[in-house]
Amino acid sequence: MKVDVAVVGASFAGVSAAIMLARARRDVVLIDDGRTRNRQAHSSHGFLGMDGAAPAAIRDKGLAEVLAYPTVRHLEGRVTGIRGKSDAFVLDGPEPVEAARVILAYGQRDILPEIPGLAECWGQTVAQCPYCHGYELADRTTGLLAWEAIPMHHSVHLQDWTDDLVLLENGVEVTAEDAAGLSRPGLRRVVGRVLRVHHSEGAIEAVELEGGRRVEMRALYLVTWQEPASDLGEVLGCAVVKTPTGRHLEVDEHQRTTVPGVFAAGDLARPYPSATQAASTGNRAGAACHQDLLGLLK
Ligand SMILES: Cc1cc2nc3c(=O)[nH]c(=O)nc-3n(C[C@H](O)[C@H](O)[C@H](O)COP(=O)(O)OP(=O)(O)OC[C@H]3O[C@@H](n4cnc5c(N)ncnc54)[C@H](O)[C@@H]3O)c2cc1C
Repeated sequence: MKVDVAVVGASFAGVSAAIMLARARRDVVLIDDGRTRNRQAHSSHGFLGMDGAAPAAIRDKGLAEVLAYPTVRHLEGRVTGIRGKSDAFVLDGPEPVEAARVILAYGQRDILPEIPGLAECWGQTVAQCPYCHGYELADRTTGLLAWEAIPMHHSVHLQDWTDDLVLLENGVEVTAEDAAGLSRPGLRRVVGRVLRVHHSEGAIEAVELEGGRRVEMRALYLVTWQEPASDLGEVLGCAVVKTPTGRHLEVDEHQRTTVPGVFAAGDLARPYPSATQAASTGNRAGAACHQDLLGLLK
């Protein structure tokens, strides 16, 4: 298959990019293996016109809209390799694709601490983003799990959702500066490593600490380690940005990576995850990629 643009990842960012190129009547292929970052959540919040809809329903609606354009195709499956340069990229996957430009929109993956029971609650009663989950999980006894560091930002941030916050220090050292920031009403500090999460079908009930102590709670937040869901950008030589909580691809104001002809959008290209932000940067990447094909982007 030969196309103007291959888009890897057909979720919020990839579909938004493809629709701009479709409207410019360019040949586009979207290649995707259907593992969006929020797939464990029952509903997605804050997306204009679709607040509370299931993540898959939003994505399917967007995909159906873009596939109504005659120059857009969709391949189900994983891109396993990528090589070449601007005007001559080759992608290996469900079928070989030759493309003049590439938009990487394959998202980030969240790495959770290895605590039995935690992953089963992820996206339901264990979460990272209070804007995504906080309204539904409000006014509960809520845990905040320290992992690599004490999540100082969340300890303040969560006060508009709960006044009963349990900081699980989990063996992480609390500095004197941290301790000053943690002395606020409604926050309890609990020392000891967390060994297990007890839950009923994803609804958290308690955490178990070393020594057997149980701490009851009905919601839990943590900051995940976040890294690209695929290594294709790094294989192509795109520069990455390292942050205290992971890494993502470096892009400029046009969503260009450091490799000519390769654009990146969505969570993959920024540290703050949100479906709306992903769609916004996808929209920008699609338009910029089209202008690059015309030689307009300097
Ligand atoms: C539990 C949870 C709940 C969330 N809830 C909300 C919410 O309520 N509201 C909100 O705004 N945001 C929410 N988010 C954030 C939101 O999920 C992301 O910001 C959004 O999904 C990013 O969109 P994206 O298009 O960049 O990537 P994704 O949605 O992650 O999509 C990437 C796509 O690329 C595909 N892919 C990856 N590698 C390859 C490959 N090699 N070949 C082919 N395809 C590939 C994947 O299968 C996937 O379909 C939540 C996140 C999590 C973890």
